[in-house]
Amino acid sequence: MTTDRPIRVAVLGAGGLGKAAAQIIGLKREVILTAICDSRGIVWSEESLDTDAVVSLTGDLVDGYQAHQRPRTTTDHGGVTLATRVEARHCDDPIGEMIRRADVLDGVLVALPNLPNDFIPSVIERFATGGSSLAFVDVLKRTRAVQYLFALDSPVSRSRSVVLTGCGATPGTLAAAAVLAAQSFVEVEKVDIWWGVGIANWEAYRATIREDIAHLPGYTVERAKAMTDSDVDALLEQTNGRLELRQMEHADDVLLQRVGVVDRLEQVEVGGVMDTRHAKKPVSTTMTLTGITHDGHRSRHTFILGDETTMAANVIGPALGYLKRALWLKAHGLFGVFGCTEFLPMVVR
Ligand code: NAD
Repeated sequence: MTTDRPIRVAVLGAGGLGKAAAQIIGLKREVILTAICDSRGIVWSEESLDTDAVVSLTGDLVDGYQAHQRPRTTTDHGGVTLATRVEARHCDDPIGEMIRRADVLDGVLVALPNLPNDFIPSVIERFATGGSSLAFVDVLKRTRAVQYLFALDSPVSRSRSVVLTGCGATPGTLAAAAVLAAQSFVEVEKVDIWWGVGIANWEAYRATIREDIAHLPGYTVERAKAMTDSDVDALLEQTNGRLELRQMEHADDVLLQRVGVVDRLEQVEVGGVMDTRHAKKPVSTTMTLTGITHDGHRSRHTFILGDETTMAANVIGPALGYLKRALWLKAHGLFGVFGCTEFLPMVVR
């Protein structure tokens, strides 16, 4: 992979995780934020966007970006001062606008809601059938959604693109940690993931919370999608702001089965606690893999995330690392859809 110029990244979605992606990209030298969109518009610059202006958004991306953007100039080799050219505009189809600009992008980080289950796969399919050759990373969570994405391997390969799917925290880092943990054992009995997330207010991560609600008994993806903000407020009022989720339909299972860590999906269990009223994690996030060694001992390896690390750090950090790996795969001529368990992420500096 060439690293002689920064990787030009588009972020799809400017909500909680989209803004976190802009903030982290702003701290790195190997990547620049070239474009970002929300459901109403797109902001784009061939040079680089002002990531602080994205981070400080409180509502609409286009209006907010224009209000917050710092006046900025760059100097070319001849000493002429150039204004950074930024295009910010509302449109009916921001994804279509991104596809039209694909030739000035290297990578795409998808931070869209995945409601319904096939929404993000349908976005990737549009890029692939539109002929864009890019590296993509998503932070999909549901088993069914990741299966939809794997079914796109042919069009993605034909467009000479690479998609790495399920590259957040769970699935993502924790599933990748389970692949490493499995190496000590001749038989893996179980992988248990128990996550804790604390956020100060749920409106900062609307899609994440709706998608979590969809795992509660009696709820479905469709029902969660149809809930208004006041319905969500009312539900959270009843639970004191907490959601405790068990036996979640999380793609860690298919991603671990795909590389031989487990034979059966039921060997992987994912659950956790979301606190929507306090930034402090309600419980530590752990991945525990139980197995039998070659000499007959049953034991377990546990991987624990630091309590001070936020959901944003643990989702966007890995997503960027996997995006760099996706670019590496593309540069080596390996195209198609792969999971977070199939390759280690690289580190974006
Ligand atoms: P959010 O609701 O805060 O933001 C979503 C953004 O997408 C908004 O800016 C919205 O305007 C935009 N958007 C919606 N529809 C659009 C469209 N058709 N075209 C363009 N933009 C559109 O979302 P969030 O809470 O940041 O979550 C983003 C995703 O991250 C979710 O799918 C969630 O499941 C996933 N996530 C993954 C993990 C993990 O560990 N794998 C953890 C947390 C969240």
